Amino acid sequence: MKLHEYQSKTIFSKYGIPIPKGRVAATAQEAKQIAEELGGRVVIKAQVLVGGRGKAGGVKLAKDPAEAAQLAAQILGMDIKGLPVRKVLVDEASAIDQEIYFSITNDRAAKKPVMIASAAGGIDIEEVAAKTPDKIIKSHIDPLLGLREYQARDVAVAIDLPREYMKDFVKVAMGLWEVYKATDATLAEINPLVITKDKKLVALDGKMMIDDSALFRQPDLNEMRDTDEDDPSEIEARKYGLSFIKLDGNIGCMVNGAGLAMTSMDVIKLFGGEPANFLDIGGGASSEKVTAAMRIILTDPNVKAVLFNIFGGITRCDEVARGILIAMEEVKPKVPMIVRLVGTNAEEGRKLLENANMITAETLADAARKSVEAAKKGN
Ligand code: GDP
Ligand code: MN
Repeated sequence: MKLHEYQSKTIFSKYGIPIPKGRVAATAQEAKQIAEELGGRVVIKAQVLVGGRGKAGGVKLAKDPAEAAQLAAQILGMDIKGLPVRKVLVDEASAIDQEIYFSITNDRAAKKPVMIASAAGGIDIEEVAAKTPDKIIKSHIDPLLGLREYQARDVAVAIDLPREYMKDFVKVAMGLWEVYKATDATLAEINPLVITKDKKLVALDGKMMIDDSALFRQPDLNEMRDTDEDDPSEIEARKYGLSFIKLDGNIGCMVNGAGLAMTSMDVIKLFGGEPANFLDIGGGASSEKVTAAMRIILTDPNVKAVLFNIFGGITRCDEVARGILIAMEEVKPKVPMIVRLVGTNAEEGRKLLENANMITAETLADAARKSVEAAKKGN
């Protein structure tokens, strides 16, 4: 789950990381009022869950409250990478001397968190990483020992941070590490962390990603979820504990197990088709879950065929078959259904589906090929 900039910065601030004064507004009038309260120049920033807002025109400086209102109105009317801007953050503007990149994230290959920093922070950081990777400094964090202050000092030296900011930088680094741990984050990023003209170190931007699997123990963060920008089918899937990701193809997939789901998608592609979704109904899925999954798959108008690939281990094929029958009653699908059941109670499952007007398949290759053919006919 991604957090908005204003949410991330509020969390940063609780852990002692300096942020600019400011608040969120949903209207131009509110933005104007916040600008009046703050006094002086402000920056108006689109709150959408994508990067590159600055380059897209979603971050603008205003010299007075009247201009703040005008720019807020403009930004609130924007669409950034397909996402409508519903809120803006109004922050006191900073006079910037240097923009630093600083983050902590997971390095899966190293099986450790990693601290990443660069003196060349700001909106072109991707380009810096691609063209001059030596300007990006990385330091792995031992998950048991945690981030040590000397590591933060080493990184500061490696990015040529002026000595006078050493103490503040270490405070920011230790603070961000505490944020990262406390929130079960997979990413905590400050870009830019700026040195201001009045010689302060301030987190100007904030971005956080929280591990979805940890949200059960992060109720406060779960509350912060902005479902406005999620696909409605993904929200619905979450309610039933289904791992579902919508894709652009036309073959709906219902599979148990993430690995098998990915394999099924690969085999569909091998036969020239495109999956409409990734869906893992999980182990031991009940018929209610199967019904919900089918409803979700079939609400996508792109779906021209549905492939069921069920490997019965803990999941019982007869239970899945019952779910399919209940779902067929409820959603009355008009598209062809291709089913492959193997494993626990597969025989019983197949029998249940015998009269259900489904295309059966013996192997995954057979099922994928039939799905691709059926979807082509449906187009
Ligand atoms: P992003 O483009 O989504 O990463 O949004 P940021 O919050 O990082 O803003 C983009 C860029 O706008 C920053 O890298 C800064 O160069 C600039 N910017 C943001 N806030 C201020 C500010 O208060 N003062 C000045 N002078 N520039 C700012
Ligand atoms: Mn940024």
